[in-house]
Amino acid sequence: DQREPVEEVRPQSPVKPMTATEVKVNVSIPEAAQRAAATGADGVGLLRIEHMILSLNRTPEAFIEEEGVDAYVSELVDGIRTVADEFYPRPVRVRTLDAPTDEFRQLEGGADEPEEHNPMLGYRGIRRSLDKPDVFAHELSAFRRLYDMGYDNVEIMFPLVTDAEDVHRAKRHLREAGIDPDKRTWGVMVETPASALGIEELAQSGIDFASFGTNDLTQYTLAVDRNNEHVADRFDELHPAVLRLIGDVIETCREHDVDTSICGQAGSKPEMVQFLVDEGVSSISANIDAVRDVQHEVKRVEQKLLLDSVR
Ligand code: PEP
Ligand code: MG
Repeated sequence: DQREPVEEVRPQSPVKPMTATEVKVNVSIPEAAQRAAATGADGVGLLRIEHMILSLNRTPEAFIEEEGVDAYVSELVDGIRTVADEFYPRPVRVRTLDAPTDEFRQLEGGADEPEEHNPMLGYRGIRRSLDKPDVFAHELSAFRRLYDMGYDNVEIMFPLVTDAEDVHRAKRHLREAGIDPDKRTWGVMVETPASALGIEELAQSGIDFASFGTNDLTQYTLAVDRNNEHVADRFDELHPAVLRLIGDVIETCREHDVDTSICGQAGSKPEMVQFLVDEGVSSISANIDAVRDVQHEVKRVEQKLLLDSVR
């Protein structure tokens, strides 16, 4: 019999375990919202806004020029709303624009993007947003519109933050967009070593949460390009240097009452889940297909910690 053996499918328990650590889900596109919500996740740990924009096949600037600001804001409102509706009242953490210029260059209007030797170290994330206050303001006005519509479960997350100065500037933009940073839940991704090492200052900048972007944090800490196949075997989110940064950030954030989370791919790995729960992370966000396994792994580690504490 030459047939390939049928891959064994591990039965998933239909029961969602109760855990102290929240288990959330990453949603890449609004179309996946229903499937993501059906996992029973405690919310969305990462909804990437750039996928809504990349699907328009134009850079934000080109889209705004051709269709107008209102159409741009409406695209974002509709995309986020699809997910926020599906999860309400569970929180949905939406990340502001974060695509590298080489991805934007593929799109209509992409020729206007700066040509960069190393886009991953370049013009992306909060850097781009702060440098393009008009586009950023339109994006934030989508959040404002959602809040006005009653979507108080929407949270705002800023990517690729380097230091507290980035946060103070982003906060000013929130205010200018009519969003009161003291009344809404917002925070940053910790994905540069600088943001991890400077967490003390960041934690006192008004943020409600810090979420580990382990894809980038690993790339920058180990100097391993996440898209370079020649060094792919060196890409290790569980490297002691990465774990040390993460552990220190969790400890400092706890002292300042700032929530911690993970939204990088490593949040779906049992070894990382074990490490994070041990360290006292507030929530873990996993891929849709990994949520149930992560829920059970979290439960197992929490029970072990409890037993160890009474022994
Ligand atoms: C990360 O860096 O871990 C992350 C979640 O962001 P992205 O993969 O979109 O850079
Ligand atoms: Mg990232």
